[in-house]
Amino acid sequence: MYELNQKIKELVPYEPISGTYNIRLDANECPDNLPDNILEQFHQKLDEIAFNRYPNPLALRLVQSFARYYGVKPELVTAGNGSDELIFLIESAFLEKGDKMLVVSPDFSMYQFYSSICEVECETFFKNESLDIDVDALIETINANDIKLVLFSNPCNPTGKGITREQAQRLVSSVSALVILDEAYMDFWTESLLDKIEDYSNLIILRTASKLVGSAALRLGFAVANPVISRAIKAVKSPYNVNSISQAFGEVIYQNREYLQNRQKTIVRNKETLYNGLVDIAKSQTDMTVYSSVANFVFVKTPRAKEIWEYLKTKSIVVRLMGGCLRITAGTADEVGETLAALKEFF
Ligand code: PMP
Repeated sequence: MYELNQKIKELVPYEPISGTYNIRLDANECPDNLPDNILEQFHQKLDEIAFNRYPNPLALRLVQSFARYYGVKPELVTAGNGSDELIFLIESAFLEKGDKMLVVSPDFSMYQFYSSICEVECETFFKNESLDIDVDALIETINANDIKLVLFSNPCNPTGKGITREQAQRLVSSVSALVILDEAYMDFWTESLLDKIEDYSNLIILRTASKLVGSAALRLGFAVANPVISRAIKAVKSPYNVNSISQAFGEVIYQNREYLQNRQKTIVRNKETLYNGLVDIAKSQTDMTVYSSVANFVFVKTPRAKEIWEYLKTKSIVVRLMGGCLRITAGTADEVGETLAALKEFF
């Protein structure tokens, strides 16, 4: 009789929130589907795909399109089946048995989850009261504990806060550990280190098409690193990790610079409206904290989080409940308006 091993025995498959809601603000996605002119470009691309052939293993045209958009060299970019795949891949390949990695808390939970599957020891560095990272203390912890890999999101999911370019550079240059900056939400802020990637021997930056780019369905993630690390990532990934449809559509998306820049402005504006509305509500709620955000969502701490979450669901609005906190994605202007109205009604 075969028995599952200890590390996977208790695991359950990932279950997204069930049910249908008019307003979905729970997964930090882009609120609008792609516009017709881009869908039209997709249709044309479909005709070029050889469905009987394996995809290009290095997703060359996709990577070139991504690299042109962000102003990085294409040879430094590896495409993945979502950045989720790349996180798992990097943790499993860049650490050896007995190595220790470090995550910060609160942060994106998958980092720690994958470490348990990889059987890698994972330590946690806690953020301060205001949910900021004390960068000097983080550097000290990494160096004092012989940490081989440190991985965190910047800006952070779920807090919406981030460290500046200057702080990130200080961190990377003060440790010999491999630093992975997950910039999934950096399209909404200005502090990316992408342009400095070649200055460091120990830096990987992750990006995704799932947030600003509005292509979560395509599962496209990217790892950017110096030539040595890039080559290693390409060497350890499975050969055909990004399918031909995603490669072709992704190539198209990053050619639509003006569309992406306009989307960015709209989402940031809606996030500001959401933040200001929440701050307004919090004025009459002494136990409610609204954290300032440089991402496309706002994080709120309140002892009534569960109650609010349940109430919003009755209004066909779903946000993310995280213990005593709510993470609310900036939807369209109408969605933000309706959500704020429902919250006012609740209180
Ligand atoms: N990193 C962070 C910080 C995220 O929030 C997410 C998605 N929730 C991911 C990575 C995964 O993105 P992808 O869709 O590219 O796998």
